[in-house]
Amino acid sequence: MSNQPDTGTKTVSATLQVMQDEHHHRCWSCGDMRAEHFCGECGHVQPARPTDFFSFFGMPRKLDLDEVKLEREFYKLSRKLHPDVYSRASAKEQSWSLEKTSQLNDAYRILKDPISRTEYLLKLQGIQLEEQSKIATEMARTSGKEKKQTVPVELLEEAFELNMLLEEAKSGMDDDLRAQLVATRDGLTRRMDSMQEDLHAAWKKWDGGDVEATSMMVDVLNRRSYLRNLVRDINEVLK
Ligand SMILES: [Zn+2]
Repeated sequence: MSNQPDTGTKTVSATLQVMQDEHHHRCWSCGDMRAEHFCGECGHVQPARPTDFFSFFGMPRKLDLDEVKLEREFYKLSRKLHPDVYSRASAKEQSWSLEKTSQLNDAYRILKDPISRTEYLLKLQGIQLEEQSKIATEMARTSGKEKKQTVPVELLEEAFELNMLLEEAKSGMDDDLRAQLVATRDGLTRRMDSMQEDLHAAWKKWDGGDVEATSMMVDVLNRRSYLRNLVRDINEVLK
């Protein structure tokens, strides 16, 4: 039996210890109570803790978040957590700076994008859109049935016309058909962009504590995902 646990094991036990202290956020070095990423007292980097991305940035769980502040915090933390800064620090601090940098990049990538931010928040609420979609695809595959996606009512006509164009394209593409498909694709893309406004309205409701907003957001994201699939189908025949 080795009496020298590797760095990974050390980090895990350190992380567990910190999880037990979850609500205290004590600095591992000086014991100060205000520690988050860095101790407010001694400035040491703190262990990476499992946390949601909003908390990571010290931001409230709001969707209409301050994007300027988010970006500023990201660059500030990137500089302060950069592994180069810890090249002479202890092994555990080096490993925490790496872990936190990776958490930081994930958190920023997800939160800066309006769609992924909304999906992420829904996931925190226990609603996994992507997962549901994957499960539906998998079930369709095993049952041999075509995966059915409900066509949003306002898209019925366009989806019908588009399917005819796509069928036509399969039997032979010409310049006229290509132009029609490009125009359709551009229209659908604009529609996807304009959904930003619907989403924003839902955000405001959610941030204001209106639970109805959850189903509004799910609806917008589903309609958007339907459009995205149509655009993908068009790109498929255009390539
Ligand atoms: Zn400290």
